Formats: sequence, C-alpha cells, structure tokens
Amino acid sequence: MRIARFVAGDNPAFGAVELAADNGDHPDTINVLNGDPLVGPVNYTGERLHLDDVRLVAPVIPRSKIVAIGRNYVAHAEEFGNEVPGEPMTFLKPNTSVIGDGEPIILPTASNAVDHEGELAVVIGRICKDVPVERAAEVIFGYTCANDVSARDLQERDKQWGRAKGFDTFCPLGPWIVTHLSLEEAADLELVVTVNRGGQVLERQRSTTSLLVHGVAELVAFVSSFTTLLPGDVILTGTPAGVGRIEPGDRVNVEIEQIGRLSNPVVAQDA
Ligand code: MG
Repeated sequence: MRIARFVAGDNPAFGAVELAADNGDHPDTINVLNGDPLVGPVNYTGERLHLDDVRLVAPVIPRSKIVAIGRNYVAHAEEFGNEVPGEPMTFLKPNTSVIGDGEPIILPTASNAVDHEGELAVVIGRICKDVPVERAAEVIFGYTCANDVSARDLQERDKQWGRAKGFDTFCPLGPWIVTHLSLEEAADLELVVTVNRGGQVLERQRSTTSLLVHGVAELVAFVSSFTTLLPGDVILTGTPAGVGRIEPGDRVNVEIEQIGRLSNPVVAQDA
C-alpha cells in the first residue's frame, strides 16, 4: 500500500494511492482513509479522488524525531575525505524541518552553500526500544524518499550539525509511504537524484541501497538501542556520492525505485 497525506478541502487526510501503472483502467487515484494509519486501523471512507485533484503534503510529521545517519555509503564518505565510521553516526533533525512533495525548500540567508542529499527514509510504525536486528521488520511501517538538505558551510563552521541540518524545509519527505516492501526489497533499490536547472536536467546522484554500509535492520537496532522510537519517527539512512549545491529556481528530485519521486522547488528566503 502507498499511504499519502493530502489536502483537498480544509484538513489534511490520509489516503491509499493507486497508480495507473498498476491498473491501467483508471487514472492515478487516492482512496480516502478515516483516521491516521500510523496510530490505528485503516478504514476506507469509500471516497475516491483523482490524485491530480489533491495537494499532497508530507506523508508523516514525525511525532518526536528524525534520526539521520551520516557517512553510510563508502563513496559519499570518500567524496569529503571522511572515514566510514565503525558504528553508525547519528544526528537529529527537528520535525519542523519536514515538508512534503512539491513544497519549496527555502534557502536561508545564513548559508551560501546548501546541498541536496537524496536518501531512503524508514518510517517507524510502533513504539519500540532495543529492537534486535532480526525483529526490525516488525517495527517498520514503511519507506519513503527523503532529502537531507544540508547547509554545508554551517556544517563545517558549527561542528555540531543542529543548525546546518535543521532549518525549516530541510527535510522533504514523500511523496507517500510504501508499506509493502520487505527488508530484502528495501536493500536493493536504485536511488537517483536529479536537479532541473534552467530547463536542463542534471543527474547528481545514482546509487543503490545495496551499498548502504549499515543496512536498514541494523540501523533500526542501533538507533533503538539508545532512544525509544515512536510511531511516525523517521530514520534517514544516509546519502550516496554526488551531493551538490542547489540554487533558487532549481527543482530537486529524489527518485527511489518501487517508492516514487519526491520533487521540490528551491527558493531563496524572503523571495
Ligand atoms: Mg544525509
């Protein structure tokens, strides 16, 4: 199932997305759900809308935190001359950094060097602590695309990454959460990041989740060994090589096989 959150009238609602690619008889459709599938059972209201007629918002606003992993692809660690850490290297992004598909990434005036980082995101489905690797699948709600937007100059200057990674709009998530992938499937997904600039499409990142140094189950186990995870919390698994600058007027696209494409325009603060 693909769980999206959307706005068609006044309030955001959840829906299950059916793509024409799966069933060519109808256009892309969203089947409206009652309640929040992260906290209760999924009930269809019976209402069906065309996907084109709704505005998607972030499929989840993490209740407590986004735990991100640094330097989890060898080629990305090497592009900045860093070693791959023996244990996963973690940092936190605030839940207020989250935006959805189509919403603008706002480049803050405090930085002159903002990069995209396309990543596979893991959405937690249950309250959990000290999850063994072999039980990680039980606490995973699903997967989505993420962009761990990073102010590279502030990351170097501050040493601590709270500001560089934590600006509002610095965590696009979406377009929806895919709940049907197994751990094995999630461990072999192609990830491609492109930037549309002035009509040109620039391919920046192309890799596969099979190259994650610490895989999804290991990350769930490691993160839950030090912090309780709540339903809706998100783990960002790290970015592959090819991170690069984004500028006002760009559109940055993070596409992950079997999940979808997260696309966000880039604007300057106060633009
Ligand atoms: Mg990252």
